[in-house]
Amino acid sequence: MPGERIVIAGGGAAGFFAAIACAQARGGKEVFVLERSSQFLSKVRISGGGRCNVTHAALDPRTFSTRYPRGERALIAALHRFSPEDTIAWFQRHGVRLKVEPDGRMFPVTDSSGTVIDCLMFEAKAAGVQPLARKGVEKARRNSTGGFDLTLSDGTSMSCHRLLLATGGARTLGGPQIAETFGHTIEPPVPSLFSFHISTPWLRSLPGVSLANVELAVIATKLRQRGALLITHNGVSGPAVLRLSAWGARLLAEMDYYFTLRINWLPDQHESALTGELRARRETQPKRQVASDPFPPLPSRLWGQLVHAAGIPPETIWTTLSRSQLLELVRLLTRCELLVEGKSLNKEEFVTCGGVRLRDVDFRTMQSRLTPHLYFAGELLDIDGITGGFNFQSAWTTGWIAGRAMADV
Ligand SMILES: Cc1cc2nc3c(=O)[nH]c(=O)nc-3n(C[C@H](O)[C@H](O)[C@H](O)COP(=O)(O)OP(=O)(O)OC[C@H]3O[C@@H](n4cnc5c(N)ncnc54)[C@H](O)[C@@H]3O)c2cc1C
Repeated sequence: MPGERIVIAGGGAAGFFAAIACAQARGGKEVFVLERSSQFLSKVRISGGGRCNVTHAALDPRTFSTRYPRGERALIAALHRFSPEDTIAWFQRHGVRLKVEPDGRMFPVTDSSGTVIDCLMFEAKAAGVQPLARKGVEKARRNSTGGFDLTLSDGTSMSCHRLLLATGGARTLGGPQIAETFGHTIEPPVPSLFSFHISTPWLRSLPGVSLANVELAVIATKLRQRGALLITHNGVSGPAVLRLSAWGARLLAEMDYYFTLRINWLPDQHESALTGELRARRETQPKRQVASDPFPPLPSRLWGQLVHAAGIPPETIWTTLSRSQLLELVRLLTRCELLVEGKSLNKEEFVTCGGVRLRDVDFRTMQSRLTPHLYFAGELLDIDGITGGFNFQSAWTTGWIAGRAMADV
């Protein structure tokens, strides 16, 4: 009966998870997933480099929530209701075993996102969900029964009793506009999880060089991160850079991705101790060329380029290294300043910062506080996490809560 019909706009991770939870709880009656494109779950397919980083292991909900630059507070209770452990158990129960990588990321043992897609499609059908492709929800209007009349992209219309918006990042068309019609505020969308463009020639000559631990800071801000870094063809990437981009998503957008990045290549070394150690080389290996005598754990190619950038001629040996050259080398090792002039999205995972303002949503049900029977889940909300499976976890958690609430359980 249309009066009891539930429509989920968006056939992505959050939409499917909500649909399955809802249909399983209410015995499969009249649960529709309307997808604008021709493909369901297309982001799941490309996620995690085709392997789908489903969630992150071994963190309690409180700690887990600290991995969200936006959404941390709202997610704490929600993650207690449907936790990463619940996700692992859910997929296991439905035939998808997950494995943990050393950094905590969890993937299907098959290393294929297809396994996750097959599972979600199978379980949706088994629960009686009706997925309809090429049916974008363009407009929604409140009707006299307290439900919604929907205008769809194929020119048809449909009515429903409850509507879940799970249309993904707030830069997409449809979801944010519908939310706004019902009085919701959209926090302006900007990208998160990106790498930095740097055109400094010596850095550009080092693509592929990686470091296990550097310290990054954006000059004139409080943004700081420590961790692994990768030098790429057009700048820097890697976990520390992506985390910095996530925590600084809004500020860096305001700076138009034009700022000075300070890198400490040896964050575990105190500057004065480092100076002392380099000075000591004048005594211990006076005849060795500075450029070919790297300082562990720095990769030798990076060391060579830093020596070059410090203006030290290649033939210089330790004993002829001047005081000012040594100090300049120490400065570059510990406070290397590079101009960032743009960004590129991370191929493995990127998300939108911004979306439906969280205080207008009741996270016990994911229902709108402004319009009864309107629900939200997934990336459309102003929630985004760092890389590592946190973004899918928020889609599973908010989707599950919304699905169960729409089924009145
Ligand atoms: C390349 C890449 C790799 C990623 N890898 C990972 C990873 O490994 N782990 C992780 O945790 N996160 C990853 N993410 C992030 C993750 O994919 C998203 O956070 C997650 O997909 C959000 O789920 P969602 O259902 O809210 O949105 P989406 O997955 O974007 O789904 C929304 C769906 O709604 C549809 N839609 C939009 N508007 C309408 C409309 N008006 N009517 C009907 N349908 C509509 C869209 O076509 C889409 O199919 C990755 C992202 C990218 C881009």
